[in-house]
Amino acid sequence: MLAAKVVMEQGVHVEGVNFFTGFCVEGHTHAIRAKDKAKPKRNNALWVAEQLGIKLHIVDVIDDYKDVLLNPKYGYGQNMNPCLDCKIFMVNRARAWAFMEENGFDFIVTGEVIGQRPMSQRKDTMPVIARESGADDRLVRPLCAQNLPPTLPEREGWLDRDALYDFHGRNRKPQMELAKRFGFSDYSQPAGGCCFLTDETYSRKLVDLWDARGEREYDLDDILLLKVGRHIRPRPHFKLIVSRELGENNYLDGYKNAFTHAFTTSHKGPLALVDGRLEGESDQLLAARIVARFSQGRDADSVTVQIQSPGGSGTVLNVPPMPPAEIAAEWYV
Ligand code: SF4
Repeated sequence: MLAAKVVMEQGVHVEGVNFFTGFCVEGHTHAIRAKDKAKPKRNNALWVAEQLGIKLHIVDVIDDYKDVLLNPKYGYGQNMNPCLDCKIFMVNRARAWAFMEENGFDFIVTGEVIGQRPMSQRKDTMPVIARESGADDRLVRPLCAQNLPPTLPEREGWLDRDALYDFHGRNRKPQMELAKRFGFSDYSQPAGGCCFLTDETYSRKLVDLWDARGEREYDLDDILLLKVGRHIRPRPHFKLIVSRELGENNYLDGYKNAFTHAFTTSHKGPLALVDGRLEGESDQLLAARIVARFSQGRDADSVTVQIQSPGGSGTVLNVPPMPPAEIAAEWYV
């Protein structure tokens, strides 16, 4: 938002590009869970574009992004976040699109600040993004440009280098002051992380999914479901995704045609999807007792649980809910 505004202030025509990887934090869990109700439920990229009065291009990169996540040349950050490769990929995509003859843009702007992030925003990695994306000296970081060699737009006088900035480090105060100067009172949380790959729990669930399947693969539904519910793996060959509240219940409802699922009929309770396979009665019993544990019948002697396959065949079980002490801590993914 700030980087775009700084350049716009110099009379440059700016358009926004937002890449949808499937791992984005916004607009998914925040839109489902009541817990997040206080936060504005909005697509921040669209909202920023509207604030700035610029056109926004939303680009779906779900499929092509797989290679970035599965085979990052520069490895992962603290969790499963391949930030450096991710930025190279996104700037490369923006470059390919922006510099096409029919689009005719002259340079690319990002909001990066030297030293702000340990992996992708270091003095030695920022040139890597410029070089490997192919954007080279047509990649401008207006918020810290004065700490970097002059780019083509600065050398050509398309941008006044003196009116760009020299921010550096993790301190966000200068950015907040600039935001104030521009009259921006509302902006997305600066340190919230832009994608689930930076989240430790989410990354663990992703690795568990790959381990259980014996291959590092995923589709969009896989990665969206990792954002929802409790994930409990009592056996290597199946995992339960148990809704925690009505919003998640409704969301998981949309997957009933694709997954074996379990729900309580004698008491109010969650909907649980079975990811994997229930092998025989003992697995069914185990799954039913766990689901019963999270229902309003948790203290009852017996809870009725229906286990339904997507094809239509179902089993009804009357089970004692599993006591919390019997749900092993390591089952929680
Ligand atoms: S946090 Fe996620 S979206 Fe952002 S650069 Fe890292 S991997 Fe890419």
